[in-house]
Amino acid sequence: MTATSSSGAELRGAKIAIVGVGKIARDQHIPAIAGLEAFDLAATASRAGSVDGVASYTDIVDLLAAHPEIPAISLCIPPVPRYDIAVKSLMAGKHTMLEKPPGATVSEVLKLEKLARAKGVTLFATWHSRYADGVAAARAWLSDRKITSVQIDWKEDVRRWHPGQEWIWQPGGLGVFDPGINALSIMTEILPNPVHLTAADLLFPENRSTPIAADLTFTGPAGMIVKADFDWRQTGPQSWNITVETTEGLLQLTDGGAKLAVNGVDQPLPDLGEYPGLYHRFAELIETGKSDVDVSPMLHVADAFMLGNRKTVAPFFD
Ligand code: NAP
Repeated sequence: MTATSSSGAELRGAKIAIVGVGKIARDQHIPAIAGLEAFDLAATASRAGSVDGVASYTDIVDLLAAHPEIPAISLCIPPVPRYDIAVKSLMAGKHTMLEKPPGATVSEVLKLEKLARAKGVTLFATWHSRYADGVAAARAWLSDRKITSVQIDWKEDVRRWHPGQEWIWQPGGLGVFDPGINALSIMTEILPNPVHLTAADLLFPENRSTPIAADLTFTGPAGMIVKADFDWRQTGPQSWNITVETTEGLLQLTDGGAKLAVNGVDQPLPDLGEYPGLYHRFAELIETGKSDVDVSPMLHVADAFMLGNRKTVAPFFD
């Protein structure tokens, strides 16, 4: 799949509703929708959150009953409650967009994909990091090159980025894989050939159900190795970097994919931003009657939980 497309979406002013007015809805979805012509935020469903001037409901069932005319719904809730709400949205015949990760399990996402097909509506399982400004150019540059190794460093301070979010520490919350899956979504987008997990160490705080750090090793064609280091204990400078060595030099994606350098030279990039790109793509999928559901980043996370060596580390307190 290709994250970005050159064909412009023609949708104008289509009504859309958001479910889960929390951190990512406020930080990204609401401003992105406001900045695009394709969609018009017409309603929200959230137990506590709402948006000034927009019809608000506390439950998706009430929203669906009150607004049969809204064709599209964007789910900005955490992964565990998402499946039941996505089923309600799809059963009501709504084009449905899922925040990442698209579900708490791989099989539930595949069930949603099948349901969307049966209902004849669009399902878009988003991976926002694939829409970072440097990712499409990185994919293009790597497409015909021989890769010799990849190093992924995704290290951030959980207290800074997820203050008080209990769900990330609960089963299905993914722990450090919540940001780490963003790196895997870029990896699976830019590498021209598939890799598979061959070793993993997962570090669980003794008082938590999800890992705070993970060291992963993947193997690709001809023994090519990808190392990924995810850590939520990083204070000071934060790192969201992917370095790819090829026989023709070094590619560096930094700032979560927003910047790209090849052999040390910064590359000129578009300045689109991740979430406008996601909504543009959603509009395009609706117009063309397609879905976009790629579970490959989730498969790598599932593999890490299957193969990973579990280590217990110091307890974590917010
Ligand atoms: P959040 O603020 O903790 O949750 C979003 C909203 O979902 C909450 O405000 C809450 O609204 C609702 N919600 C929470 N638990 C629920 C439950 N059990 N049942 C129904 N609704 C529930 O989380 P977030 O940071 O926005 O993350 C949401 C999703 O976006 C996650 O999958 C995350 O990986 C992804 N994401 C987050 C970020 C980020 O920087 N935070 C970045 C990119 C993607 P009400 O209480 O009002 O119902």
